[in-house]
Order: sequence, then C-alpha cells, then structure tokens
Amino acid sequence: MQDSTKPSPSALPSVDRLVADAALTPFCQAYGRPFVTVLAREILAEARARLLAGETESVEPEALGQRIAARIEALMSASLTPLFNLTGTVLHTNLGRAPLPAEAVAAMAAVATEASNLEYDVAAGKRGERDDHVAGWLCRLTGAEAALVVNNNAAAVLLLLNSLANRRQVAVSRGELIEIGGAFRLPDIMARAGCKLVEVGTTNRTHGRDYGAALDSGATLVLKVHPSNYEVRGFTAEVPTAELAELARAAGKPLAVDLGSGSLVDMSRFGLPPEPTVAETLKAGADLVTFSGDKLLGGPQAGIIVGKKALIERLRRNPMKRALRLDKMTLAALGAVLRLYANPQQLPARLPALRLLTRGESDIRAMAERLRPELARCLKGIAEVEVAACMSQIGSGALPLETLPSAALTVTPIAAKRQRGGVLERIAGAFRDLPRPVIGRVQDSVFVLDLRCLGDEDGFRAQLELLDITWA
Ligand SMILES: *Cc1c(COP(=O)(O)O)cnc(C)c1O
Repeated sequence: MQDSTKPSPSALPSVDRLVADAALTPFCQAYGRPFVTVLAREILAEARARLLAGETESVEPEALGQRIAARIEALMSASLTPLFNLTGTVLHTNLGRAPLPAEAVAAMAAVATEASNLEYDVAAGKRGERDDHVAGWLCRLTGAEAALVVNNNAAAVLLLLNSLANRRQVAVSRGELIEIGGAFRLPDIMARAGCKLVEVGTTNRTHGRDYGAALDSGATLVLKVHPSNYEVRGFTAEVPTAELAELARAAGKPLAVDLGSGSLVDMSRFGLPPEPTVAETLKAGADLVTFSGDKLLGGPQAGIIVGKKALIERLRRNPMKRALRLDKMTLAALGAVLRLYANPQQLPARLPALRLLTRGESDIRAMAERLRPELARCLKGIAEVEVAACMSQIGSGALPLETLPSAALTVTPIAAKRQRGGVLERIAGAFRDLPRPVIGRVQDSVFVLDLRCLGDEDGFRAQLELLDITWA
C-alpha cells in the first residue's frame, strides 16, 4: 500500500545537484568527477527503485551524499585483506592457505617493481626459461631429473593428463576418484584433459591384477591419487606405489602420482603425522609426481611436477603450459621458500606454515590464558569466556583424520538456551565485522577461537577493543 506521506521519486535531487554538494568535493578531487557521477547515479537509481516499491527512503541530498561517500570509500578500500584465522584449520583453502616467510615476500617485492631476468639468461645474453629459476632446487630436493611449475596442482594434473593421455585411456583406482573442495573432481578434470577414465578395482579394494587388466586393455597412463580429504577404513586394499610402478614399467606405460600436499621432508621429524614425501614417491618408481606449492610445502600457490626428463619435456611442449604458467612473483616466492629447505632442521623456525603446525599446545594455552580476561571483559554480560583444549586440523586435505592438540578461547552466550543460537551468530558476526576480521568456528553452541594460528597477539588485542557489543 502507498503511504501518502511518503515522498514520490520526483522529489529526489538531480545527479548534478548531488555531485555539486560540498561534502563530495574531496571525492571529486581524489577520484575525478566522472567517477563520483557514476556512483551518484547508482545511489539515486536505488533510491528511486525503493520509493517505487513503496519503501521508506530519504530524498534529502545530505543523506544521499553520505551514501555516495560511503560507497566510494568501500570501493576504494582493498577487497582482498588480511584477517585472523582462528578456525583451527591451519592451511585453510578459503583463508589463503600457507602464510609466506619474509624471504619470499622480499623476493616478490624485488621483482615486482623492476625488470628482471624472468626469461633471460644473463650470462649467455639470450632468451631463458622461466621455470629454471626453481627447477634446479626442485630436482635437488626431490631427486628428480626434471621439474616444471604451473599455477596450482589442479593445473598440474590437467597439464599432465592432457600431455600424456589426450584421447587415451587413463587407469585410476575407484577408491581414488576424489572430489576436493572448490570443484576439483578428478573425473571432470580427466574429461577436460581429453582422457578416457578407466576405473580400476572397487571403492574399498584395488589389486595389482585390476591395474594389470586395465593396462592390457589399452590404458596409456596409470594415475595414482592421494585421497587427501578422506580415508577408506576397514576391509581395504590399495596397490603400493612401488608395486604399481613395477606393473606400469612392465607394460611400458608411465605412472603418475598426484600427491596433493606432497611434502619435501619427512613431517614426522617435526612430530607431525607422516605424509609420503615427493622423493620417496619418485624413489618407489613414480615417473611423475604432482603436488601443491601452498599446502604442506608452505609456499605460494603453485602446482609442481617433477620426474622423468623426457616426460617433463612433453608437458613443457604442450601449448597448455603457456596458459598455465607461473608469474614472476610466484616464481620468486617459490624460489625463496625452496632455499629454506636446504636446512630442514630450521624449517619450523623459518617457515610460517611449519611453525604454526608444530606450535606446542602449552605455548598456545599460555596465550589463551593471557587473552582470556580481556575477551571476558569485552563480552561482559553477553557471554562467558573460558580456555579450553581443542584440536586443530592441518587443512587442505592433508591428513584429514589427524588432528593437532591446541587451545582455544570458548565464548558461551549467557542468554537462555532458546535464544543462544541467535546470540551465537551475532557474536560470530561481530568478530567478522571487525576492521581486521576474526574468523572462528561455531561448535556445539559455543563460539570457538583456536589460537594456534594467532601470531600477532597485540594486533588481536587491538581488535577486541573495537568489538561492537551493542546488542541487548
Ligand atoms: C589439493 C589437491 C589438488 C588441488 O591442488 P590445488 O593446488 O589446490 O589446485 C589436487 N589433487 C590432490 C590430491 C589434492 O590434495
């Protein structure tokens, strides 16, 4: 129903009148009048639509001008910004995975604003190969003959499949036809790479003879995939890499292994659950191994392929490689991270991802004890804050069932049980609304802040002071 006291759209000021307002002058000076005019049109169009829909809406130039200013400020602040990952998942895909070491940031900055030898052999004075900036280190650290890098591991798998088995059959165990968060489904990647998927064995058990049959009936490539984010338990059987390599070799076909996380060093030396290393997998007979740069390796987003020289050459010659290649900043960062692996002993101290993964429970708990009184004060009358033991996850599909003992601040709403859900969501929302958002997790009607990944304690304290607890 139309309210007769509500203004009509014709009462709205003109675009020119709005842009000429003194309050918008600094914006016109900073960003140019045409840009402010575009925003003024947007805001006016929205106001007009609301008025026509019979909704309450201001036609005051001042109120509309403030809205334009707010919209410009939002547009001019970076969309991609840092936050506090207190979810308890260390390598969180949605929150940017591995944090980079200072060496990697410095290396990126050094090439970001200057010309560089990205594809130039300075000594020879001729064109060079961009992957050469990291290939040597990758071979040294994995024992591989050759290496190649692309944009991420999904791209690595795509390039590998398309280069070696376009319009051909690829044998994969039924137990390894995985989906990884964010639309990486192995059968779909296979199809896009032009491969014909030959499913081998059953969901829980795959034997050597199953692969043998697939190879006999024409499979060009055997692909073994680390199941990453799930585990089949109970009556299970898989063919170890060494045995599979034997079978593939006998048939004269290559074996590729997608390790997913793929670590360069044995994680158990740092007290972490063991993961197959890239070197081990090559040694067991894999011809090619693919893995991510920003999972357990702790570097920038990248897909890495190492293995036999002749096969890597075939991948390099695929025109797809050009479309999937790494940019100079990622290459710089990856190179810096790989150099840290020269001394594995120092990795937990120098590589942030490993530092977070190996952080001791007592250290995290001490931090939680220090922060508890402050958080309790900020949430006084709204929620109770306690220090509790919790379990962190490695994330990114690495060791899905393994957890790391950690400590958390738990926030329990004081409201009657019935209202708790709503209050809990508001508390989580208030933390997300902070200038530097704090992301926790809601578990069993409690808001949990796992402090494993909290490095900047004072920065976090400063955010707590800004918590907006205006709800009743
Ligand atoms: C994570 C993962 C991928 C995808 O890697 P991205 O670097 O995220 O593209 C592919 N395969 C496996 C087994 C993985 O765990």
